[in-house]
Amino acid sequence: MTETVHKLYTSGDLSDSELKALIETDDMKAAELLRSCADEVRQKSYGKKVFLRGLIEVSSYCRNDCLYCGIRRSNSAAERYRLSREDILACCENGYELGFRTFVMQGGEDAFFTDDFLCPLISEIKEKYPDCAVTLSLGERSTMSYERLKEAGADRYLLRHEAASPGLYSKLHPQEMSLENRKECLFTLKKLGYQVGAGFMVGAPYQTTDHIIADLRFLQELRPQMIGIGPFVPHHNTPFAAEKGGTLGLTLRLLGILRLMFPKVLLPATTALGTIAPNGRELGLQTGCNVVMPNLSPVKVRKKYDLYDNKICTGEEAAECRGCLQRRIESAGYKIAQERGDAII
Ligand code: SAH
Repeated sequence: MTETVHKLYTSGDLSDSELKALIETDDMKAAELLRSCADEVRQKSYGKKVFLRGLIEVSSYCRNDCLYCGIRRSNSAAERYRLSREDILACCENGYELGFRTFVMQGGEDAFFTDDFLCPLISEIKEKYPDCAVTLSLGERSTMSYERLKEAGADRYLLRHEAASPGLYSKLHPQEMSLENRKECLFTLKKLGYQVGAGFMVGAPYQTTDHIIADLRFLQELRPQMIGIGPFVPHHNTPFAAEKGGTLGLTLRLLGILRLMFPKVLLPATTALGTIAPNGRELGLQTGCNVVMPNLSPVKVRKKYDLYDNKICTGEEAAECRGCLQRRIESAGYKIAQERGDAII
């Protein structure tokens, strides 16, 4: 198995059967070699730098009904909120002072967030903070909308493809949602000049190794600037409440594989990874990750952006995520970069 890791390290790719063996391996030596190779490649591309993205969770209203997600439309127990323009600007002001140079507005697909609402807001943020990047993560929208938001100043868009295999996609989503449209959105966003982030959950119900390989192949085709993966974590008020969550071992192996396949990609150590293990994000950073996305949302709404159970950084004590993360990043041997942190691809 260590030979397979070497091959991936030197050539940046593997056959499907080699990938399958590496994804499924329980060989600890191979896992450690994969980790150290991934760290070496990450350091060649980005040194010890870790880029921060301030995450502003703008709305827990969602018109979609993704079976895994705690804020799905059918979850009548979900507490709904949306941030006002003033709330969002206050998050940016706070974030800028804390040293963030990227603001990510993420939310459910909430019809309240029209282009007419978002465009002036994005322009205002870009005017106030010209050295910052604005990232959107607001789900599937029309090409026209993506165009207008780009024109208003949005730089980046995060839209995980979730599952590149039609069979798995349809088990995780209601019938009215389509993988075709999601992929189309991603290619459109790229064409419009956004820096794009795609990705998927690790250990989602029904996910097999072949599905994961299909995800890796899709990512090779799309060539996004960022790849977001994190473990699936069940939410108690969804159809997947009783399902098992994704494991730390598999998530780390996949992060290592992604770093070797995509040496220059931006790879976040996600909140979900920090949720399934207390040092999950630190381990992620040591396995090729170079981005963390601290929560910048007002503390009063954090518990309501409830995608999965036990999500970290939602309590009163988490009001200052920045200091906590700085300590974690430094303890893992890396340093925060006070810059926009664009991908070098
Ligand atoms: N509405 C936006 C934002 C979705 S939330 C969009 O459609 O892109 C951001 C990500 O959280 C999702 O893409 C999904 O991969 C992840 N997520 C949702 N539920 C989850 C769960 N139960 N466990 C782990 N990750 C989850």
